Amino acid sequence: GKAICECNTCYGGTNCSKLLPHCMVDADSGDPIFLEPYWIKNAARSAVLISGWHRMSYEFSDGSLISKVLKEHIRNVHAHVGNAQTDGKYIIFGVGATHLLNAAVHSLSSYGSSTPTKVVASKPYYPVYKEQIEFFKSDNYKFIGDTTMWKNDGSNVTYIELVTSPNNPDGQLKKAILQDQRQNVKTIHDLAYYWPHYTPILQPADEDLMIFTLSKFTGHGGSRFGWAIIKDEDVYKRMLTYIDMSTYGVSRETQLRVLKLLKVVLSGNENKNAIYEFGYNTMKNRWIRLTNVLSQSTYFSIQDLNPQYCSFSHQLRKPSPAFAWLKCDNVLGNIDCYDVLKTFNITGRAGSLFGGTDLNRYVRLSLVRSEDDFDLLLTKIKKLVDVESKGK
Ligand code: PMP
Repeated sequence: GKAICECNTCYGGTNCSKLLPHCMVDADSGDPIFLEPYWIKNAARSAVLISGWHRMSYEFSDGSLISKVLKEHIRNVHAHVGNAQTDGKYIIFGVGATHLLNAAVHSLSSYGSSTPTKVVASKPYYPVYKEQIEFFKSDNYKFIGDTTMWKNDGSNVTYIELVTSPNNPDGQLKKAILQDQRQNVKTIHDLAYYWPHYTPILQPADEDLMIFTLSKFTGHGGSRFGWAIIKDEDVYKRMLTYIDMSTYGVSRETQLRVLKLLKVVLSGNENKNAIYEFGYNTMKNRWIRLTNVLSQSTYFSIQDLNPQYCSFSHQLRKPSPAFAWLKCDNVLGNIDCYDVLKTFNITGRAGSLFGGTDLNRYVRLSLVRSEDDFDLLLTKIKKLVDVESKGK
């Protein structure tokens, strides 16, 4: 009969149980479906039902576009995890971190100055920073590339430094580089991955402008929800104006759903740490399996990150980042690592996208997708390592 299910691209047959030998495994997108089993376990408690008459208005009863209750829950989550200091700071919501990144760059840039604010990020950096800024073509700011290139600029041009910690793609914990040396530098800390699933928590981040996203925390990328924690009132007001002008706030249905999700996260069934334990154990397991397979290889390697003391778990922990930053060794000649993996049916994200063609020895592999996707990825990498050892 006809297949009624929609199979993963690597499976076929009437009930999607047949592994297709030459299929491409998708290790490209960073969609954190690995958290789905946690939500299946909490299916009833996390469900929301919204009647037709409910939440129709643009605004909350206090005239704001931001739910006060949800803000309180976000503060409680940070207090529990110890990953961000929110006391005395403002919080605003955006349609994902993507929306807030532009709101932040816009708000920190100097208006009407003859020289546009220079925006920098440390290589390898999340490609969207550059893509977004170039797409919007503002007169107020320009993306000018790698932070270290601008360390010794003696001019008094305003800089915005984007700091991603842990970093996408390589999982490194990062610090601002320019700020220590100059007054005219503003920083945006993108802390999308600063959760126990991916990294030891060193201390509560206490930066001027921090951005978080629900996507990498609970896995709900499709809800399009992020928040910014802001110290300075003027910056906060400018960001609010940006949100008013661009979207007039985040959908109230989204805010309602996020509230429900955070209530489940915070209460836990018996255990208030359930989502973090599930998140960390799943990622840790994947890293152990991947590291084991690649330990047999001399041509292919991944980043090795040092264990650090995690104040959340009270353990010495190795990082378990969302992505493997895989390197093809120079002995393979002048090749593009992305193409090498393609010939083994693995679609990653080309290293060169993260800051220049000199990164084409690298490819980013997503480790946060479903268990099936990860198993397939590992099968293909095993094959790659097998072929390598036969060739020696
Ligand atoms: N910042 C970083 C470092 C990311 O990796 C991502 C998602 N890939 C985002 C921001 C955007 O997240 P959101 O889904 O909230 O737009």
